[in-house]
Amino acid sequence: MLHLIRLYNTSFALHFISLLLLIGIAPIVQAEWLKQQQDIMGTRVTVELWSKDKALALHCSQSAFDEMHRIDRLMSPYKEHSELSRVNRDAFKNPVKVSNELYRLINQSLRISALSQGAFDITFASIGYFYDYRLHKQPDPLTIAEKLPAVNYQQLNVTNQSIQFNQSGMRIDLGGIAKGHAVDQAIVKLKKCGIGQALVSAGGDSRILGDHQGREWMIGIQHPRQKGQVALSIPLSDSAISTSGDYERYFLSSGQRIHHIINPKTGKSADKSWSATVIGEDSTTTDALSTTVFILGAEKGLELINSLDGFEAIIIDATAVTHYSSGLQRPESLQSTH
Ligand code: ADP
Ligand code: MG
Repeated sequence: MLHLIRLYNTSFALHFISLLLLIGIAPIVQAEWLKQQQDIMGTRVTVELWSKDKALALHCSQSAFDEMHRIDRLMSPYKEHSELSRVNRDAFKNPVKVSNELYRLINQSLRISALSQGAFDITFASIGYFYDYRLHKQPDPLTIAEKLPAVNYQQLNVTNQSIQFNQSGMRIDLGGIAKGHAVDQAIVKLKKCGIGQALVSAGGDSRILGDHQGREWMIGIQHPRQKGQVALSIPLSDSAISTSGDYERYFLSSGQRIHHIINPKTGKSADKSWSATVIGEDSTTTDALSTTVFILGAEKGLELINSLDGFEAIIIDATAVTHYSSGLQRPESLQSTH
């Protein structure tokens, strides 16, 4: 599920290693980077970190993975005993008390909903629940018409550490923000562990701590229509970057691409973009904003990003045109791979 492909400057590294081999020194620099992968939240998670102490590196990497598993147990809509499932079962009947962590993430989702005039809306799940991308299942027009009133974040009652649904048939899902939160929390764990240089990535959401031995990481954005190809790459350090695309989970129905990012106004797959990337300080926000900008499309999406401090975006629209936010207009800040 990699939207992002790391493009560390391998040619320099290879030259360096061959030089060391030529003069008979083992390439110890490479040995200090640890890279591990696990499948969490339905996606491939990668933790890469730098430490001189191998045992410490392994311990820190494991603590990052453990943290992400913990968040998955809390927020998965697929786990019957998750806090989120309890909310979806009971919150129409009565207010459901939730943990501080879930409460804060739901509140953050609501702030993005308000910012985007409802493009980002965790109650999309009231309809999203009727899609199954593996079984090629989608709701019929009657079901959409019937369920659409339950897609409305303003009908969520979020007070006193509790969640209540004001509409029957309402459900919430944090698929547009929880992975970003998990990446941020993994970075918190790594910092606490004493790590200063790392990359954590979960599907389309990545965060870089520090840099890569004094140089920036090169992060590639997946080409939305050419599998395994990089559309462009961005040099980054100490930042978060998230990409939302219509090419990961989808099926075709009568020539139409039915995918997992739902326009809350129509209950159908958003159709203005192929891919939306947002760069910022933290993954929780870039994750939610990439989903938001994908739905809004280039014009409104960039208007939103340009109005916010500390965020940039790259949108590949549904006609294959690439659009950049105002801080990325400088040609030297990006490298096109074409
Ligand atoms: P990925 O999970 O592939 O990284 P995104 O970050 O783009 O994808 O988020 C897509 C997910 O966001 C969907 O799988 C779904 O769980 C959720 N989602 C879909 N539509 C919306 C929406 N309008 N508002 C909030 N979340 C959404
Ligand atoms: Mg997202």
